[in-house]
Amino acid sequence: MEWKTVIGLEVHVELSTETKIFCSCSTRFGAAPNTQCCPVCTGMPGTLPVLNAKVLEYAVKAGVALNCEITRYNKFDRKNYFYPDLPKAYQISQLYLPFAKNGKVDIGGKTIRIHEIHMEEDAGKLIHSEDSNKTLIDYNRCGVPLLEIVSEPDFENSDEVIRYLEQLKSTFEYLGISDVKMQEGSLRADVNLSVMPIESSMLGVRTEMKNINSFKAIERAIAYETQRQISVLESGGRVIQETRRWDDGAGVSLSMRSKENAHDYRYFPEPDIPPVFISEEMLNNVISAQPELAHEKKKHYQTEFNLTEYESSLLTINRNFAILFESTVYICREPKETANWMLGSLMRYMSENGLDYGDIKLSPQLFARFIAVIKSGKINRNVGKDVFMQMLESGDDFNIDNYIAENGLAVINDENAVKAAVKRVFEANPKTIEQYLSGKTKVTGFLVGQVMREFKGKADAETVNKVVLSELSELRN
Ligand code: ADP
Ligand code: ZN
Ligand code: MG
Repeated sequence: MEWKTVIGLEVHVELSTETKIFCSCSTRFGAAPNTQCCPVCTGMPGTLPVLNAKVLEYAVKAGVALNCEITRYNKFDRKNYFYPDLPKAYQISQLYLPFAKNGKVDIGGKTIRIHEIHMEEDAGKLIHSEDSNKTLIDYNRCGVPLLEIVSEPDFENSDEVIRYLEQLKSTFEYLGISDVKMQEGSLRADVNLSVMPIESSMLGVRTEMKNINSFKAIERAIAYETQRQISVLESGGRVIQETRRWDDGAGVSLSMRSKENAHDYRYFPEPDIPPVFISEEMLNNVISAQPELAHEKKKHYQTEFNLTEYESSLLTINRNFAILFESTVYICREPKETANWMLGSLMRYMSENGLDYGDIKLSPQLFARFIAVIKSGKINRNVGKDVFMQMLESGDDFNIDNYIAENGLAVINDENAVKAAVKRVFEANPKTIEQYLSGKTKVTGFLVGQVMREFKGKADAETVNKVVLSELSELRN
């Protein structure tokens, strides 16, 4: 029997607001345990939550960017459950009226439908200590604002899932509303997965997998769970609807608890928060302030700057990178040249030094000056590579023109000097010349290289080429 995999995702994204969703505690990641909590986020009797206006603004931005219908009349609901990570014993969430519905995300050749997005508060973090057989609790994360983005079961494989998550990551990063770091837990994806016979039209029973912390783990978890379900069904068993925990070390998913339904949580309307109305004005403000997103920039780079699709997608992978590109081009008006240096030397420098996009300290002013110097032919490309590295190492005080002057790097295109050097090289390499004359024209490359060496790489490559070729044809005559 042939099987088909069906996957739906529940993605949690932590919003990067300064303060929590219903109190003024800080949301900073990495603080000492239990130093960022108060009576409100730990649910002390008599306290009242107040919605952080920034959370609503960020939520609407996300909803608009993911092509959702925005709910005007919003309410919050209580999801009740008893577990030590939740001091209030309920989580404030949105069940009946999520703020966004019916969105869609284009993942290149396929559209994934978004069922809904809702706002909610995060729970605390349990730390299971291995040595003492105890569990520790950190409440700093209680009340950190989250968006939960629920997709329709539209994915067929891990490749599509990863493309979708990358698209979400990019969107949130461009909107500036989340750090979207899987390893820090600010982006978490729970994978709902079922299998069904390829010719069937009825969805199979699904499991939900939690604790998946990287793209690599997503790929492995999906492969494992697909095989596990197929084995169960092929041996005549039934898949049980349940929540499973992905154990990345062991490479297996393990049963955690039988899947709860909404009624298990005894949801009811949150009585402490009045309904929130999103006005026409607020919605319009968000729409008109929406920044250009990666996929829009990618198109615009191809039409306006004549870059290839490949170049455009690399330049727009990260917002800082795209902004450096655009600001530099705005000054120097050389998109192709700027793109080449970013995708060549700059990316190589980043990977060699283990730098992230956010770590690049190059100003567009300096970068644009560099491009202008290259374009003017004042230094050649090889020397340019060294100057570029020096510029990245030195930071903003770097003065390209002084550096070139002080180190005598200016290009040599004095034809007479080049001619003299070519003569010297020819005299020093009689064998090579002989080979050339007997038809081995490939040796010209070697000769050009030798002449370049005479000038310590600083000669104008075109001039050298031209002179070597003309002197060689002289010899022929
Ligand atoms: P619940 O209310 O139990 O959380 P939902 O209907 O909200 O369930 O669905 C949760 C997620 O599971 C959604 O992303 C949905 O697309 C996905 N899903 C639902 N049914 C299936 C299925 N048969 N196979 C795979 N994924 C599914
Ligand atoms: Zn608090
Ligand atoms: Mg759900």
